[in-house]
Amino acid sequence: MNIILLGPPGAGKGTQARILVERHGLVQLSTGDMLRAAKSSGTELGNRVADVMARGELVTDEIVIGLIEEQLDGEAGRHGLIFDGFPRTLAQADALGELLASKGKSLDAVVEMRVDDAQLIERITGRFTCGNCGEVYHDVTKPTARDGECDVCGAKEFVRRSDDNAESVQVRLMAYYRSTSPLIGYYHAKGLLKPVEGLGEIDRIAASIEAALNL
Ligand code: AMP
Repeated sequence: MNIILLGPPGAGKGTQARILVERHGLVQLSTGDMLRAAKSSGTELGNRVADVMARGELVTDEIVIGLIEEQLDGEAGRHGLIFDGFPRTLAQADALGELLASKGKSLDAVVEMRVDDAQLIERITGRFTCGNCGEVYHDVTKPTARDGECDVCGAKEFVRRSDDNAESVQVRLMAYYRSTSPLIGYYHAKGLLKPVEGLGEIDRIAASIEAALNL
């Protein structure tokens, strides 16, 4: 099964993708994670996208399509896939359709995670992740059970994304409404769209995603 998790920044795409990976053996392809990895390892690509990402703008279609193509050609291409944070433009959506078709694959569903704007800003500005296993936390809604220690792996290092600040969040939201939200109509027209309420408890949202996907 190949699916897209579609929704504004802070909708919980990454969190839900991790749950689907764990429970259903799918592979998560997050262009944001790939770009952050390129940035922190200081590759030429990483240096090229650093400023754009810090501002909260979108990097070029060409770059992210290239990253996804590489993944489809590699080991990930042999598994069911969750596209997280990709596609973000109509051109990326077209390219993804063509890439999948060229490999005899197709999309099964696009889960649209719906969350109120006011909630998004609060969610994004409070979030942090375990530096070791990537578990996602939130200062208010999901703190670690023991102070300063990851519930999952016990690590004591946490990371906050440098673009999770109020200024960049506004730009990211604008980019979502301007460039990404047209994908809702695009996938609706293809009969693939499954809207899911993205507010509430993480497990209940996961259950509604599983129900929407017949998992
Ligand atoms: P994310 O982790 O998905 O929120 O992505 C973080 C940042 O990476 C975004 O604000 C963009 O600057 C960039 N990015 C990630 N995925 C894409 C994409 N599909 N198209 C363009 N830019 C992207």
